[in-house]
Order: sequence, then C-alpha cells, then structure tokens
Amino acid sequence: MFEDVDCALCGARDEERLFPARDKMFPGQERFSAVRCRRCGLVYLNPRPAAQAHASYYGDSYFYSANNAGAPSRLSITGL
Ligand SMILES: [Zn+2]
Repeated sequence: MFEDVDCALCGARDEERLFPARDKMFPGQERFSAVRCRRCGLVYLNPRPAAQAHASYYGDSYFYSANNAGAPSRLSITGL
C-alpha cells in the first residue's frame, strides 16, 4: 500500500522524479521512486509506503542485536 505525499519540509507538491530504486537490504519486486522537491530540494520517496505497510518492511530479520556473550561483565578504569 502506497500513498502520495506532499513535501514534508515545505508542504509543496512540486517534485521531479530522480530515479527508481529497490530495497538493497531485502530486494524484492517493489520499486520506489526517489523525487526532489523543486521548491526546497528535499529528496524523498513518492509515492511512499503507507504507515500501515511499514511493519512488512521491518520484519524480524531486519533488526540486528549484538550478542553480549563476549562483552566484558563490567568495566574497570585503570591508569588513574
Ligand atoms: Zn519542499
């Protein structure tokens, strides 16, 4: 689900298409359109995924959490 949006910086609806793009981390069939606002220069996606669709782009495999097993159990200050 995609939605057309105005520029989030200046509110204009005057954009030029820059290039099509794909998700580089999780390539799929979807293509996104990068645009540049002619008034303020902000670059953003338009149309962009609607808020209801965001969870589908950020599944469990998207996030990385460091394994703390190798981390020191405490910090020590030396040389003071
Ligand atoms: Zn703008």
